[in-house]
Amino acid sequence: MAQPVNAPQPGYQPATAPTLRCDVCGAYPAKKVFFVSFVGLAIAHIQRSTRGTYCRSCGTALARDHTARNLAVGWWSIVGWLVTPFLLLINLPNRIRIHNLAEPQGQTAPRLPVGRPALLRVGPWLAFVILGALVFFLVSLGR
Ligand SMILES: [Zn+2]
Repeated sequence: MAQPVNAPQPGYQPATAPTLRCDVCGAYPAKKVFFVSFVGLAIAHIQRSTRGTYCRSCGTALARDHTARNLAVGWWSIVGWLVTPFLLLINLPNRIRIHNLAEPQGQTAPRLPVGRPALLRVGPWLAFVILGALVFFLVSLGR
């Protein structure tokens, strides 16, 4: 009996897209992402960025670190007030891309420690308290 012309031959393996592996731990699946954070230093600033291919675990660790840094020290410069909200928004799509990855497997090296979510860390809340006190002080001066 003849097979149809378009039928796959026995033993045929369909070509699959190359699987990206995490730059840190070697696990897959992984995606190329970019995170940026900002450290305000009154009249200067330091911009830090991380670009690479990361699994869900390592990517989550990096996203949380950059978010916590933005929330804690991003505001402390003249341009920090303007830049920090945009950086938080810029990081969000990559954070979602990492979050939607499947559980990493096949790691060949230790993963980055995930750590606590940014809003469960001390730094951002300390910054909010100090900024709130500063705004309250400045408003009370104007009365
Ligand atoms: Zn990883």
